Amino acid sequence: MVKRKIIIEPDPILRKKSSILEKVDDELRELMDDMLETMYSAPGIGLAAVQIGILKRVVVIDVSKKDEKKKPLFLVNPSINHKSKNLSVHEEGCLSIPGHFAEIERPAECNLTYIDYDGKKRELQAKGLMATCIQHEIDHLNGVLFIDYLSKLKKDMIIKKLKKQKKDIDQVIL
Ligand code: ZN
Repeated sequence: MVKRKIIIEPDPILRKKSSILEKVDDELRELMDDMLETMYSAPGIGLAAVQIGILKRVVVIDVSKKDEKKKPLFLVNPSINHKSKNLSVHEEGCLSIPGHFAEIERPAECNLTYIDYDGKKRELQAKGLMATCIQHEIDHLNGVLFIDYLSKLKKDMIIKKLKKQKKDIDQVIL
């Protein structure tokens, strides 16, 4: 497992749509292992392949608590086929938007189909934090970030700060 570099907003790749995968093979499993390693060491609870620069519809998630056994979930070609009408609010952050958080309202439950680590087709009924996390990660596959749900003013402010942070980091490297 290799830790990969996480892409930080603003970056045009984060706005691109990821493509469907044809099959689950060893190469893809290696990518999923790397994504899990990258997510755990960040640390984060979800990561989409686009966040490490790969435009494929793959997501890793683990919403288990610190002292619990790890429960990684690998989603290949995830597709939501039902969202509940009732909504819930979670404070969301994103590994591509470090240091910024906002309360986002989303459907409280969702039902999805996906292909798992072994290439088997599966269905999942998600609620609570898991449902929020799944919707956040699937948004990434469609080039959508959580800041897109905020007012233009708030969003622009966050992007401005991220740009400045990036510049500061570059200067340190130079
Ligand atoms: Zn994210």
